[in-house]
Amino acid sequence: MRTFDKIYINGQWVKPNGEGSDKVINPATDKVVAKVPYGDATDVDNAVQAARNAFDAWTNTPSDQRAEYLRKIAKEMQKRSADFEITMVEELGIPTSLADDYQVSGPIGACAGFADRCSQMDEIEEINNSLIIKEAVGVCAFINPWNYPLSQMIGKVAPALAAGCTMVVKAASQTPSHAFILADAIDAAGLPAGVFNLVHGSGRVIGEKMCSHPEVDMVSFTGSTEAGIKIAEAAAPTVKRVCQELGGKSAFIITADANLTDAIAYGVEDVMVNTGQTCTALTRMLVPNSRYEEAIQIAKDYAEAMKVGDPSDSESYIGPMSSESQRKTVLSYIEKGIEEGARLVTGGTEMPEGLSQGAYVRPTIFADVNNKMVIAQEEIFGPVLAMIPYNDIDEAVTIANDTVFGLSSAVYAKDKGSAIVIARRLRAGQCYVNSGDFNYDAPFGGYKQSGNGREWGNAGMHEFIEIKSIQT
Ligand code: NAD
Repeated sequence: MRTFDKIYINGQWVKPNGEGSDKVINPATDKVVAKVPYGDATDVDNAVQAARNAFDAWTNTPSDQRAEYLRKIAKEMQKRSADFEITMVEELGIPTSLADDYQVSGPIGACAGFADRCSQMDEIEEINNSLIIKEAVGVCAFINPWNYPLSQMIGKVAPALAAGCTMVVKAASQTPSHAFILADAIDAAGLPAGVFNLVHGSGRVIGEKMCSHPEVDMVSFTGSTEAGIKIAEAAAPTVKRVCQELGGKSAFIITADANLTDAIAYGVEDVMVNTGQTCTALTRMLVPNSRYEEAIQIAKDYAEAMKVGDPSDSESYIGPMSSESQRKTVLSYIEKGIEEGARLVTGGTEMPEGLSQGAYVRPTIFADVNNKMVIAQEEIFGPVLAMIPYNDIDEAVTIANDTVFGLSSAVYAKDKGSAIVIARRLRAGQCYVNSGDFNYDAPFGGYKQSGNGREWGNAGMHEFIEIKSIQT
């Protein structure tokens, strides 16, 4: 059991004003695995004030020194990588065999990567009689979800530090421990007091206070579209910059000439990994009518071979949902799919074989899905795949774009060139062609109701920059 009784404000671990503690449940065992203390609005005030006080000195710290701090933080994180990994397994429920790859090593590497971007703040552009310079946006508030918690945290903290911003951060209640371990790493790296501050509490109390605070210049939020709208509303009266990374319902177009076995293995894995709790999950698989039944059989066999079980078992590929309430939500969508007349190919609402306890859901595949169905339009956030047939590529593109979301997409074709032609027609912030890898140096973000703004790479850092023009 991990017990934290302090939050991190102004370079100190301090007792929060809030009362009681948040109990974190292991979704595989239903046991409490961590306790973290609740903060309140006064803690947010104190944290924001500390970030405000630290801003001038930090933003004027030479970029090579800021870079050095980022490298030190990455090193301190690396020392704690096993601790991060344990929290992912115990709090999120990701299997131990995937935890490091999917949740820990990527963000640590990316943190060090932002060190190399600090010097971009020194670049000056001349346009006629103007000097165009870059400045940090100011004090930032970061609010994160639970599904890739360390990655979402570092995707905000590292570029903000590189740009010269100071910050107050809040993790989600389901997976808070990584944020306390990160604060410990930052403290050990010797980051000046007040640059990074950690509070904890509910979205509606702590989160809204962070978003509406007049001393906060920017809010960066990752989470549901519903909460994203509330956050933007709370931030609007003080005209803050708001960066939103929200939900998705991404389409995967498989062309008639694609290697079906490879394409479907990629698509099914993409949906099932992290127990389907991935914002970019390719949850709508679009398959040509001519190969539809063949594709369904391959997908069924592939999903049924995935081991669902205890995340501490090295054989498990699919762990429990992050919480019992998430399990209930996913099961209600599976019921909805059956009610809507989709064909249940595999999975369903029963507990997976051999399991009687824990927030588990069977990897589930629906065929004969019409894109107008609820299971094709709403984000389920669980291991549920909808297979949708199409007649030609124009129809596939129309179906793919027929969604309020636009976070990700993918195309699998015989050759990359023809896949890229289709990729360019998809209204989404990313497209993965022939199983292309995630790239921490490339911009990540959504179109439409999947959000605005970008994380990672130079574009991710740009979010934290104000541009000033000086006329001479
Ligand atoms: P959520 O929106 O319920 O909560 C996210 C965070 O927002 C939590 O820290 C929560 O406490 C806080 N919050 C909730 N209501 C708030 C409010 N009114 N004011 C301020 N803060 C508030 O989301 P979740 O269930 O934790 O995460 C799942 C969602 O996140 C999914 O929709 C998923 O698609 C999305 N997501 C998006 C991305 C992306 O990069 N686009 C990445 C991961 C997850």
